[in-house]
Amino acid sequence: MRQPFLEATGQANRLFVAIGLFVAIGAALGWVFLYAELIDEVVLSIPFMVVAALVLGIWLGLTVRCPRCKAKIVWIAVSKHPTQTWLFWLLRLTVCPRCNFDPCGADVVSLNA
Ligand SMILES: [Zn+2]
Repeated sequence: MRQPFLEATGQANRLFVAIGLFVAIGAALGWVFLYAELIDEVVLSIPFMVVAALVLGIWLGLTVRCPRCKAKIVWIAVSKHPTQTWLFWLLRLTVCPRCNFDPCGADVVSLNA
């Protein structure tokens, strides 16, 4: 069983933390729209949460990279695949989509040299 690319390159946690934060922001926004009283503090928090989600998305898109060619893996996943499938594609990925770098392969050693 091959390790997924993100796990093998030690970047899976980053993705899961970001997904957790996305879910938290989404839940907070849902709560604001459905249940919260629209006092100023609540209304002002909406753009803040939207910006936080955007910043998080950009951070993820820029920082999850192939250790060899520096390809932006999350960005490739989001921009080249449909919304419903990019996450599954990303989680199943075992080699870099750009340079075919295999983090479980023999050339890992040369990277750390
Ligand atoms: Zn690569």
